[in-house]
Amino acid sequence: MTKRYDMAIIGSGPAGLSAAINAKIRNKQFIIFGTENLSNKLIKAPKVNNYLGFYDVTGKELKDNFKNHLNSMDIQITTEKITAVYGMGDYFAVMANDKTYEATTVIIATGMEFTKPLKGEEELLGRGVGYCATCDAPLYKGKVVTIIGYNREAEEEANFVSELASKVNYVPMYKAQYDLKNSIELIEDNPVEIQGEAKVEKLILKTSQLETDGLFVLKDSVSPSQLVPGLEMENGHIKVDREMKTNIPGCFAAGDCAGKPYQYLKSAGEGQVAALNAVSYIDSLKK
Ligand SMILES: Cc1cc2nc3c(=O)[nH]c(=O)nc-3n(C[C@H](O)[C@H](O)[C@H](O)COP(=O)(O)OP(=O)(O)OC[C@H]3O[C@@H](n4cnc5c(N)ncnc54)[C@H](O)[C@@H]3O)c2cc1C
Repeated sequence: MTKRYDMAIIGSGPAGLSAAINAKIRNKQFIIFGTENLSNKLIKAPKVNNYLGFYDVTGKELKDNFKNHLNSMDIQITTEKITAVYGMGDYFAVMANDKTYEATTVIIATGMEFTKPLKGEEELLGRGVGYCATCDAPLYKGKVVTIIGYNREAEEEANFVSELASKVNYVPMYKAQYDLKNSIELIEDNPVEIQGEAKVEKLILKTSQLETDGLFVLKDSVSPSQLVPGLEMENGHIKVDREMKTNIPGCFAAGDCAGKPYQYLKSAGEGQVAALNAVSYIDSLKK
């Protein structure tokens, strides 16, 4: 039988981490998903002067302190990308690649890394457009796949897909020394639109176009309403109340994804509120 967690926390920035330490203190069974470096936004900050108790630190120093805190409390991050969360009545099915986790409550703390979808992206989602290349790679055996990568992890996915696909095009949305296999074609051009009738046919870029069978858009986060079908949004953020509750019972949100201002301490505070209210919700189910 699949283990059922009390809480699944999606995101390892300050919001998710603060939720995790509070869940631990309240003795709940939880799992936290995210990345080894915790948050790309955290490590990018040159100087942070508004995090109470940490004057004149770099984002990386703050990250190292967060890591030490987690280690001291024996909290491990599960480094998997969550692709979908489905409400199943009395629990949530949390999907990561081909794995499913079960949890009574979910805290969405995925940040605001997502950019506006490309023209045609939402219409062709599931019909050639995907957000997890490694999950869907077998579908594209012997076919042409194009990957629009927003971060360096996308390069790893491209390398994996190239073992199965007949051809992989990689369109980076950042500048770096790309660590790509020789067989992968690097396309340094700006994507404009995804075209296709029943399924994806072409990616139109600013100065070129690519015929492709599959197209993956790999960002740090996907829009929360795509991640959790039925989640109510307001002005581009997840709609929450003062208890960080969303419109879906048992689903909470915290941090940048729940609204402005985009700040570390606000995110950590909201993560705490979300976790404590999730604890109350879990306990109320047992009464
Ligand atoms: C350059 C820069 C400087 C900044 N300086 C400051 C500052 O000085 N002071 C300040 O207060 N704020 C600053 N900020 C803002 C601050 O970084 C954000 O407000 C804060 O990181 C938000 O925290 P969060 O937990 O909501 O999300 P994030 O820190 O964005 O973390 C979200 C995490 O969730 C992960 N994730 C997303 N989707 C999924 C998924 N589907 N599955 C698994 N994991 C997922 C992401 O990979 C990421 O690790 C700065 C931001 C930048 C970019």
